[in-house]
Amino acid sequence: MTASSTTPAARETGAREVVLRVTGLKKRFGPLEVLKGVDLTVERGEVMCIIGPSGSGKSTLLRSMNHLEEIDGGRVELDGELVGYRQHGHKYVTLPEKFLARQRTKMGMVFQSFNLFPHMTVLQNIIESPVGVLKQDSKEAKATAMALLEKVGLAEKAHHYPRQLSGGQQQRVAIARALAMKPRVMLFDEPTSALDPELVGEVLDVMKDLAREGLTMVVVTHEMGFAREVADSVLFMDGGVVVERGHPHDVLLNPQMPRTREFLSKVL
Ligand code: ADP
Ligand code: MG
Repeated sequence: MTASSTTPAARETGAREVVLRVTGLKKRFGPLEVLKGVDLTVERGEVMCIIGPSGSGKSTLLRSMNHLEEIDGGRVELDGELVGYRQHGHKYVTLPEKFLARQRTKMGMVFQSFNLFPHMTVLQNIIESPVGVLKQDSKEAKATAMALLEKVGLAEKAHHYPRQLSGGQQQRVAIARALAMKPRVMLFDEPTSALDPELVGEVLDVMKDLAREGLTMVVVTHEMGFAREVADSVLFMDGGVVVERGHPHDVLLNPQMPRTREFLSKVL
């Protein structure tokens, strides 16, 4: 696995600052080896799209990055800090829950199913973690939340409940909620897969805006148009390994590996 291509953000400054580094990541569920040694790096401002067939380990990879899964080998580092563990002599011990919770706030996660709290308004959903976990002043958190709702085009829905919103609107709220924690990197797991086709565009548009603003993003997606247009790098996974990674034009239009070609012939 080679380092990623230079991102637009990095080109401007001449720097290549790695935000997220995954090394030799292994994960199994009982006898099933799901991740068989995954290596990748994401630089500041980079948008990486992860593609691959169902069951190839994409969701497990994202969940492992954020230590929502206990990993069986390798390491994940965010801004040079080990995720989920701390070194104790030659051993690695799992971080206590308090530290883990704090670390998780540095990676924003958006899932296929929007996962909003149904009994809270849109605004309450967004300020819940900034106030509860980051101990932000609630007035300040509300102001930030309103600015984020403005950004995702939903300021007028602040006092609505999730059930009163369309799927696309709920997903935009979920994005605003993740952004409210000011994460170093945003992880998206097929954020548009559960949406009716006519609602996909509004969510992708919000994500395009975030990419343009220089947010560091890892996006598992089947939206090849989005990957081609927005990604700085595309990573193709199959069977728990990274098969191919590179610039979207290379991986999507001129793939080198037969498995990538076969997959793309089915989805493009
Ligand atoms: P993808 O997101 O690429 O579709 P997943 O990471 O969801 O793939 O799943 C990879 C493999 O791991 C699949 O075979 C899936 O059934 C299995 N798997 C995922 N989560 C679990 C779990 N909690 N327990 C057992 N098997 C799991
Ligand atoms: Mg998945």
